[in-house]
Amino acid sequence: MKQHTLLMPLDMHLHLRDGIMLENIASLSAYSFSGAIIMPNLVPPVSTKEELIAYKERILHAVGIEAADDEMEEFSDNGGFEPYMTLFYQNYDEDFLAEVADELTAIKLYPAGITTNSEGGVKNFDIEEMRPTLEAMARLDIPLCVHGETDGFVMDREAEFMNIYESLATNFPDLKIIMEHITTKEAVDMLDKHANLYATITVHHLLISLDDVIGGMMKPHLFCKPIAKRPEDRDALLKVALDAHPKVMFGSDSAPHPQHKKEACGCAAGVFTAPIALQLLCEIFEKAGKLDNLQSFVSDNAQSIYGICPEFKEIILVQEPFKVPETYKGVVPMYAGESIGWSIEDVD
Ligand SMILES: [Zn+2]
Repeated sequence: MKQHTLLMPLDMHLHLRDGIMLENIASLSAYSFSGAIIMPNLVPPVSTKEELIAYKERILHAVGIEAADDEMEEFSDNGGFEPYMTLFYQNYDEDFLAEVADELTAIKLYPAGITTNSEGGVKNFDIEEMRPTLEAMARLDIPLCVHGETDGFVMDREAEFMNIYESLATNFPDLKIIMEHITTKEAVDMLDKHANLYATITVHHLLISLDDVIGGMMKPHLFCKPIAKRPEDRDALLKVALDAHPKVMFGSDSAPHPQHKKEACGCAAGVFTAPIALQLLCEIFEKAGKLDNLQSFVSDNAQSIYGICPEFKEIILVQEPFKVPETYKGVVPMYAGESIGWSIEDVD
């Protein structure tokens, strides 16, 4: 039986939510990942130092790790899990950023109203209005993560955003800009155009196109923002992921919603993949004969781009079918009830 070991996997784009949902799902990521970039789009969004620290404590509590400040040994069944925290982008002043810099890993920018809980995001991309904040971030080495979609026609939103990436990249050459959850050939092409542009790619966008969402019966559990695009877009994403392009990282964008919010008139956007992401990635990379590149895609690239050193964790996967549960505590995962090709055998 084929076996593959991954060291310190990192999920560079994760929604853990809050309250009961957080309590229910956080440990699923903490089980198989060493750390994750935590999205700040709560209600209200995370935008002060106090909120950020309190949210991190709630996450550590939910995954069974004591908060660091009580000087207890970290403990959980499967080693540590580092929530790499983010703030919701607003125009912040440099003193504030300097004060909070040690507590966060990145700042996440949402265009206003583009996805779940992003109403307070950026309304127009006035570079001069954003300049003091973005220059301060560059000086403090705080990366900017961007949800790159306009409010145009749904299939064109990401491609239309490329000139905003272009203008951010050229106006702020010392700022690390991460194009989050890219879904198009246009975004892939941007990677080699500007030294300071990077990207995350989800596992679902490596697997599905729009056909899988609405080509037959509509599949609410595959509905997400950005929407899955054309097969040729997926092929472009696959190419850079499978080759472990050094500017590309895995970010699941795993986004849980209660089942009744997905199977509803007015279906919430988001695909829940956290508990099956590594198994699916093994299957994709093994089928393409590129399993040796998976380590870079799920950890090494992110470590060098963000300059982070996750705690040691070793995940052993085997090529043995895994039947995906129908739900995880009321959240329906991608491929619910279906069999996928790889399983997690052990975590050390
Ligand atoms: Zn997201």
